[in-house]
Amino acid sequence: MSALALPISAYAMKINALSKIVSEFGPTKPMPVLFLGHGSPMNAIELNEFSKGWRTVGKSLPVPNAVLCISAHWETKGTFVTAMQKPRTIHDFGGFPQELFDVQYPAPGSPELALEAQRQLKMTEAGLDESWGLDHGAWSVIKHLYPEANIPVIQLSLDYSKSPQYHYDLAGELAELRKKGILIVGSGNMVHNLRTIDWRNPDSGFDWAVEADTKMREWIAAGNHQALIDYEKGGKAFSMSIPTPEHYLPLLYTLGLQGKNEEVSVFNAKTIMGSISMTSVKIG
Ligand code: ZN
Repeated sequence: MSALALPISAYAMKINALSKIVSEFGPTKPMPVLFLGHGSPMNAIELNEFSKGWRTVGKSLPVPNAVLCISAHWETKGTFVTAMQKPRTIHDFGGFPQELFDVQYPAPGSPELALEAQRQLKMTEAGLDESWGLDHGAWSVIKHLYPEANIPVIQLSLDYSKSPQYHYDLAGELAELRKKGILIVGSGNMVHNLRTIDWRNPDSGFDWAVEADTKMREWIAAGNHQALIDYEKGGKAFSMSIPTPEHYLPLLYTLGLQGKNEEVSVFNAKTIMGSISMTSVKIG
């Protein structure tokens, strides 16, 4: 075997990837941060008020070096980042038309960014994942931001064993990535109760859903993040609106990245089908 055929050691690969980050990722002005209320997977292929809202925001952003997405649909024990070169498009839903299952979103991955995210996170040792890909929480919205699938995308999982405060604090450790041209996107829904969905009521929400969504928007505008972290103390409107935390927690990742006095705006603010809020947030 010639010396050239010897496998490069994992360590050397890591050094190589890290030096690539320095050249490829930054420094830039801090990239904005988004929370996108994703709603139905059908929004991936429909041009409606919500997907139009995502497209408009996408056009307002500087072109990122890569995207890091925290999706409601990837929950794990411990924290992981996707580290494959070519993430597969995961169709993690049922009962939708074939047209939706036919969608592929072939954005490249970024093993370099996965390593960099792993390096930034101090509260936990994030694992490098080779088996996930892009779930619909990620691709159904990123497809509208970058229809050409030409921006690398990685995902960061939600550790289901951790508290809301933990998720908020963990997000803060990703702040440096914003200065390397990385767009961080939380994807979920601030109000998300599938058990009470009212299909006959496509354009409005139950009183408790509207109440919780309105309160959340007030707290977001006022920078009252502690109230949003402590949502479980919010009474009936919140316990009905957030029966399980996975669609809400991506919002805390977005807010955890807001700098002091940094601008925040809300768009797609609408409660639909009784118990889903599409409200989305832009920081910066
Ligand atoms: Zn979802």
